[in-house]
Amino acid sequence: MFLTGVLKGIQVTIENLFKRALTIRYPHQKIEAAERFRGEHSFDISKCKSCGLCERICPSRAIEMIEIKGKKYPKIDMGKCSFCGLCTEICPFGALKLTKNFSLASGNKKDFIKKPRKLKK
Ligand code: SF4
Ligand code: SF4
Repeated sequence: MFLTGVLKGIQVTIENLFKRALTIRYPHQKIEAAERFRGEHSFDISKCKSCGLCERICPSRAIEMIEIKGKKYPKIDMGKCSFCGLCTEICPFGALKLTKNFSLASGNKKDFIKKPRKLKK
């Protein structure tokens, strides 16, 4: 019984030794995210009309409207965001979108706060 298990283990090892690896050397290698992947937000400040709908619909309370030069724009706390996409669906002007960027890891909590002027277009 023991010997059968050892032989089976060796067989599986040899079989997989020459197969292509399913893993990649992240972050040195990257794979393209799926077409409908929901990652980091992009924000086009020129399209935003400060309606505040994104803040109101966010179930994680990750969005807070903050004032910049007399107008209010969404500040997003990526640490709270569940990437549900509701804020992008409700935005009537297409100002908010979710990109395929999933490389969001950081040891600094401040990096997860996306102020409107810092959001990528
Ligand atoms: S994706 Fe969902 S959880 Fe994240 S900010 Fe938008 S509404 Fe909130
Ligand atoms: S991003 Fe869209 S939903 Fe949010 S305040 Fe601006 S226009 Fe309104």
